[in-house]
This record gives sequence, structure tokens and C-alpha cells, in this order.
Amino acid sequence: MIFTVAIDGPAAAGKGTIGQALAARFGFAHLDTGLLYRAVAAKGGDSVAAARGLVAADLMGAGLRTLDLGQAASRVAVLPGVRAALVAFQRRFARAEGGAVLDGRDIGTVICPEAEVKLYVTASPQVRAHRRWLEVGGDETRVLAEVLERDGRDMGRAAAPLKPAQDAIVLDTSVLSIDEAVQAAVDVVQARMGA
Ligand code: C5P
Repeated sequence: MIFTVAIDGPAAAGKGTIGQALAARFGFAHLDTGLLYRAVAAKGGDSVAAARGLVAADLMGAGLRTLDLGQAASRVAVLPGVRAALVAFQRRFARAEGGAVLDGRDIGTVICPEAEVKLYVTASPQVRAHRRWLEVGGDETRVLAEVLERDGRDMGRAAAPLKPAQDAIVLDTSVLSIDEAVQAAVDVVQARMGA
């Protein structure tokens, strides 16, 4: 069976948690595509060459999920050459036999417009910053500033900007618990599978 769940949305909206839960529930493979951009940023040097040379082991590195690498990732992610180098791998993953969940910024709009389910997972900047701050600590005002800066860059760039696909279902997790958000996503996938 080929079945793709595309999950897009801004940082710390709950995409990863929902993606992992859906993958576990339906037995699908899961790809956190942000890791690709983080790994490119972590390699340094020529970003396009780094993206072309990316191997699976580059995604395993501990320490890819820091705030600083999130910012650095969003800077390399504006480069069309970097994005182009990562498309084929993501498309293959999305359409591989057995079903796949991919979360990122451009999955439903660019990587897999034919996805069977498209979710746009969002929450208010304050809620997202608070969640991120619970994970990383430090100064919450600074975390909010970083979230807003990254939103601006991801939504404002020319190449594959973050936006909901026209046929995406928007899931605002601002006032939902993790269980409620996961259940809402499970319901959407189940309804589509039954259709
Ligand atoms: O999701 P995560 O915070 O790990 O993503 C890091 C950065 O990588 C994002 O802010 C965004 O700029 C970029 N990204 C992207 N397209 C994706 C996934 C991530 O541009 N599909």
C-alpha cells in the first residue's frame, strides 16, 4: 500500500509528536524532514555540496535538535540548491511501499502534493515558544523571539515557503493536549483510509 501523510507547520506546533504517533499507530515509516536541513547546517562549508552528499548517518547525530541549529537550518533552507538536492530522497520515502508520514514545511505543497492526507499543524507563537522553552530552558523571551524569527524566515522565503496546502486540514493544537491532538490526526487518517 502506498499512503502518504504530509504534516506541515511552524516550529514546535506538535508535528513531530503527531507524526511519530501516527506512524506507530498505522505501522508507517516516519521522516522528520527538519533533520535533513539541520544536518546540512551542521556540516558547514558549501551547503549545496553538503546537501548533495548527505547520508543516513548524518541524520543520526545527537545534538541536531538545538535552537541554534534550528536557526542555522532555516538559513540554509532558503537556498533553492539545498532544497533541490533533498527532494528526490523525500519523494522516494513518501511513496515507498508500506505507508509514510513526513513532517516539515513543504511536504504537502512541494514534496508530495499527491499525499492522501495533508495536515497543517499549528499553534500560537506564545504556546509554541512555551513548549520549546520547557524542552530547552533558558530565557523564555529569547525562545519566543527565535520562534518568531524562524516563522518569518520560513514563511517569507521565495523557495517553498511554509504555508498550508490548499487541501490541507488545519489542526490548531494551542488548546489541545497531546492525546487530543493525536486523536484528531488519527481520526483524519482513518476517515481517509476508509474512504
Ligand atoms: O522542523 P525543524 O525545526 O527541525 O526544521 C528546521 C528548519 O528546517 C526549519 O525552520 C525550516 O527552515 C527548515 N525546513 C524546511 N523544510 C522542511 C523541513 C524543515 O525548510 N521540510
